[in-house]
Parts: sequence; C-alpha cells; structure tokens
Amino acid sequence: MAPLYIVMLGPPGAGKGTQAKVLAQSMDLVHVSTGDLFRENLKNETELGQLAQGFMNKGELVPDDVTVRMVEERLSRPDCDKGAVLDGFPRTPTQADALEVLLENFGAGVKIVPYIKVPDEILVERLSGRWMSPSGRVYHALYNPPKVKWIDDLDGSQLYQREDDKPETVRHRIEVYKEQTAPLIDYYQEKGILVEIDGTQSIDDVAEDLRQVVEEA
Ligand code: ADP
Ligand code: ADP
Repeated sequence: MAPLYIVMLGPPGAGKGTQAKVLAQSMDLVHVSTGDLFRENLKNETELGQLAQGFMNKGELVPDDVTVRMVEERLSRPDCDKGAVLDGFPRTPTQADALEVLLENFGAGVKIVPYIKVPDEILVERLSGRWMSPSGRVYHALYNPPKVKWIDDLDGSQLYQREDDKPETVRHRIEVYKEQTAPLIDYYQEKGILVEIDGTQSIDDVAEDLRQVVEEA
C-alpha cells in the first residue's frame, strides 16, 4: 500500500502538535514535527541545531534548503514506511513544492490537509500558557494542565516554557505565519485537499472533527 501523508496546517498555537500526536497514534503513523526536530538538534548541539537556533529565537523561519534536507532525511527512515503526520512542515510554498517532489519519489502524495483555524487573540493566550516536556509533550497552564504543576504526567520530568513563546516573539511569529505560511491555504485549496477545522473548540472536539475529516478523505 502507498504510504499516507497528512499535513497539519495552521498558525503557531492552533493546536497542530497536540492534534498531530493523537492522530498519528490512532492511525499508526509517525508524527514528524520540524519544530521538535530542530529542538532535538539544539539539545544535542549539532551543527544544524546551532544554525537553527538563531532563527528560532527570533521567531524567523529556518532557511528552506536546510529544512527540506532535514525532512527528506526523516521521511526516508524505515519507521515512516506507512507515512506520517507532518506538523509545522511545509511552512512556505517552496517547501510545499519540495515535499511534493519527495513524496512522488515514494509513489505517494499529500492525502489531506486539515487547516486548524484560530483567531490571533486566542493564539497569544495559548502560546503564553504552553508548557513543554523535554520529550516534546505539550501542556497548557489552563486548558490542558498536568496533574502536578510544572511536572510531566508520564515521566515526572520538569516542564518548561519555550524561549520563543514570549509575547513579543509570538506576535512576530504570527506575522511570519501570515506572510510566508498562510499562502499554503490557497495552495492546498487549489489542489482540493484542504479541509478547514474550527480550532477554537476544546481539544477533544477538535480531535473528533479531525478524526471525521481524515476518515472521509
Ligand atoms: P501548535 O503546534 O499549532 O503550535 P500546540 O499543539 O503546541 O500548537 O498548542 C498550543 C498550546 O495551546 C498548548 O499549550 C496546548 O496545550 C494548547 N491547546 C491546543 N489545542 C487547544 C484547544 N483546542 N483549546 C485550548 N488549548 C489548546
Ligand atoms: P509552533 O508549534 O509554535 O508552530 P514549531 O515548534 O513548529 O512552532 O516551530 C518553532 C520554530 O522552528 C519556528 O518558529 C521556526 O523557527 C522553526 N521551524 C519549524 N518548522 C519550520 C519550517 N518548516 N521551516 C522553517 N522553520 C521552521
């Protein structure tokens, strides 16, 4: 069977990561988050991590060529044989074109693009309350709190706030999204594979809508 690829689209804080994890697990696909991959490189102090850090801390995008190479490498690994839920990639039309070429080589394409739509005011609130675990689990101080404040439910590790979730950086990331990533809404709409989801609902209701959308694709 040809592998299955789903692209999660939406502004920073829309809930892409939260939903991608649930969806990937329920469909037995791999969750591929470019943000997580960059943060992993940063933690391991790789050359790629050092390069990415400057862009990430300013809320800018890492250059396309570097990002595309990283994704190519990740999607080529055997654990992605059945496909992947892509979260945070593509983020520019150049990346979307590169993804298309890459997936063609795998005899596949993007099956569906759930676009999680959330207005700006809510994004700032979500990102300023986002707590992360070192292994990439995502909590929210109010909307998805851990059982014990600042402690990961599953492994007890200390949660942290992302450097780029500060309000000034968040506002810039939203601008960058509008300029560089939002054109992908039309890009995928023209291909007939974009489906809009109301991201202002609760995490469980968004997950339910997403499940239906993917089932019908
Ligand atoms: P993204 O990957 O799109 O940037 P995340 O999945 O990291 O978004 O979610 C951003 C923050 O908002 C997290 O703290 C998460 O717990 C919270 N969150 C996600 N979805 C919802 C929702 N539907 N309602 C309220 N908070 C949410
Ligand atoms: P969010 O969950 O808030 O949308 P991510 O974790 O996806 O943020 O990304 C964090 C940062 O990593 C971005 O601001 C950017 O600097 C970098 N990044 C992630 N994905 C990409 C990408 N596809 N292209 C370029 N830069 C990226």
